[in-house]
Amino acid sequence: MEKKLSIFKKKLTRLSNSENTMVTEKKEAVEKEDAVAKAEAMTECPKCKQTFKKIVIKENMNVCIACGYHFVISAERRVRLLTDQGSYKPLKCKVDFANPLEYPDYEDKIHALQAKTGMDEAVYTCVGKIEGYEAVIAVMSSKFLMGSMGIAVGEKVTYAIEYADRKKLPLIIFTASGGARMQEGILSLMQMAKTSAAIEKFNLNGGLYISVLTHPTTGGVSASFATLGDITLAEPDALIGFAGPRVIEQTIGQKLPEGFQRSEFQMEHGFVDQIVPRNKMRETLALILKLHCKKSK
Ligand SMILES: [Zn+2]
Repeated sequence: MEKKLSIFKKKLTRLSNSENTMVTEKKEAVEKEDAVAKAEAMTECPKCKQTFKKIVIKENMNVCIACGYHFVISAERRVRLLTDQGSYKPLKCKVDFANPLEYPDYEDKIHALQAKTGMDEAVYTCVGKIEGYEAVIAVMSSKFLMGSMGIAVGEKVTYAIEYADRKKLPLIIFTASGGARMQEGILSLMQMAKTSAAIEKFNLNGGLYISVLTHPTTGGVSASFATLGDITLAEPDALIGFAGPRVIEQTIGQKLPEGFQRSEFQMEHGFVDQIVPRNKMRETLALILKLHCKKSK
């Protein structure tokens, strides 16, 4: 009886092992199919209207290979492309969700965005090295509620500024924002004063602040820390301004000049120091840091 039982058990194990192998094989086949589909997925460039394989654009730092259009790039990937390999680590600034105006569906929206983007809020903050120079880096993402600035964004940006101040490190902020976050009303506007005051203190203590304006930098963010840099860089063809062109046209009753509020126009008018394409950003920042800072050990 016992012998029979042991034979039966052995058979059962063999059967389950072969089943497991089948499941693994099936899973691998599906993953392979997904990878092929991903590699062959196409995207259209909004500027030159040509279509390219998504993977080709991705491998070119999310920049169009034909016309140089800068596609949106995720905040953490931007940091990875900028910093020395394995050198960055996120700043520990935890901010809890708040809905001070009890805005309907706000919390669900934030949770859905957190799951989709892998970010806790519209800004990612970290410390990393660029060609051996340590810096505090904050990157806003237009993928998270249009990079709008609420209490959490204001707190994370301020924390990053104060951290740079304490550690005597240079500060680099990449901005991308539609402006203040309407769901938080006046409290989101207060972040303009809060971040600006922190920058002022950092400045008085001799800190170096490099602001990098990316598409789009508008509203309350452009009217606060985005435009308070010691050095202001911008990505090509980024929309930079306070109010949108249509609102201005309606207010002043005049047609606006060609390319109004784009990086190139802003540089011509003294608002931006240099336009830097994405593939030159790392070396440009490294050069500025080299001129102003000591190399960290
Ligand atoms: Zn293009």
